[in-house]
Amino acid sequence: MFTAFLIKYAEIGVKGKNRYVFEDALVTQIKYALKRCEGEFKVRKTQGRIYVDALTEFDFDETVANLKTVFGISGICPVVYVEDEGFEKLGEDVVAYIRDVYPDRNKTFKVAARRARKNYPLDSTEINMEMGGIILDAFPEMSVDVHNPDIMLNIEIREKIYIYSEIIPGPGGMPVGTNGKAMLLLSGGIDSPVAGYMIAKRGVKIDAVYFHAPPYTSERAKQKVVDLARLVSRYTGPIYLHVVNFTDIQLYIYEKCPHEELTIIMRRYMMKIAEQIAQETECLGLITGESIGQVASQTMHSLAVTNEVCTMPVFRPLIGMDKQEIVDISEKIDTYETSILPYEDCCTIFVAKHPVTKPNLNVIKRHEENLAENIDALVHTALETKEVIIVKSE
Ligand code: ATP
Ligand code: MG
Repeated sequence: MFTAFLIKYAEIGVKGKNRYVFEDALVTQIKYALKRCEGEFKVRKTQGRIYVDALTEFDFDETVANLKTVFGISGICPVVYVEDEGFEKLGEDVVAYIRDVYPDRNKTFKVAARRARKNYPLDSTEINMEMGGIILDAFPEMSVDVHNPDIMLNIEIREKIYIYSEIIPGPGGMPVGTNGKAMLLLSGGIDSPVAGYMIAKRGVKIDAVYFHAPPYTSERAKQKVVDLARLVSRYTGPIYLHVVNFTDIQLYIYEKCPHEELTIIMRRYMMKIAEQIAQETECLGLITGESIGQVASQTMHSLAVTNEVCTMPVFRPLIGMDKQEIVDISEKIDTYETSILPYEDCCTIFVAKHPVTKPNLNVIKRHEENLAENIDALVHTALETKEVIIVKSE
């Protein structure tokens, strides 16, 4: 019965020129999300509102589920359009609407009419009164509550007449593309996809880098990261995934540095390389899935030592979260099942039995001097040979 959706968005901070940037980004992301849905849609912006019109048959649940991936949407209102064929006919349409949408009518309601064109014979107060009466006549079990109604029945008089009352909550946040771009260090784990999701929610576009270490990490491990990027890209839009071959760097560190420092030194090189790619691709920051104390490489000491190589801001949206809180989000955004697939990630092969948990920056730097001979060339080669995969959810 619904043929359209009215898209509600929080307007805070959306004043003046920002408003267009915000709305245009929202429209772009809505169109991207709708490509995944059966049916054809038109997205239009009129008088400070965004509507999604269905041009063909469509699957209601699927469409709503996909609209819920668009950051910036605060509410999704399913709308019924009816032709203007007089007020009496409108009364019949509204009664039919209530009958269809609310099988249980033991509810209070309020009619909220708006006239977008003033040539309609009744003004909005008259419509509210008259329509209220028609509804009460049709459904004596309903009653009016103008302050806190169960059902806010909106009637908008436009070219056609729009009827809506339900608001399905959207994901909130800001439309992706309104707040610059950042580079996500994406591994095959649970945390980093969640970290990317959280930063994208603030309107930030995401690119990603994955450090691959064949043959120690398999093609399946890489495919898993591509799959995760695709799941995240439902929310973020297309992701440029940079796959860096990290094997030679890893082996070289393994050969030249104390094994209990391998992970931390490796992580410093990951951050360095990620930052170089970020700079080349106009990203303004890095994103990781780190959380204080989760593993040896994420103690405060380790994070400080890792961070030292970066000049860009590093965003760690999970920093204060417990694992279970992160898992809950990964389940909500549907990455969990993929993240827990058992394919090894590039750290597990080389992990020492007793990695340092309180690395000392000076000691680490001294040991990194052992790499002086070849590391620049290896980093150069890693950057030269990286593969870029454009990941989309369409
Ligand atoms: P995740 O669940 O995201 O893999 P984790 O708990 O396994 O995190 P680490 O392996 O210490 O933690 O990694 C910390 C962060 O470093 C990750 O969240 C991710 O941002 C980044 N990272 C780790 N390994 C890789 C990799 N192979 N490629 C790209 N980024 C990585
Ligand atoms: Mg990991």
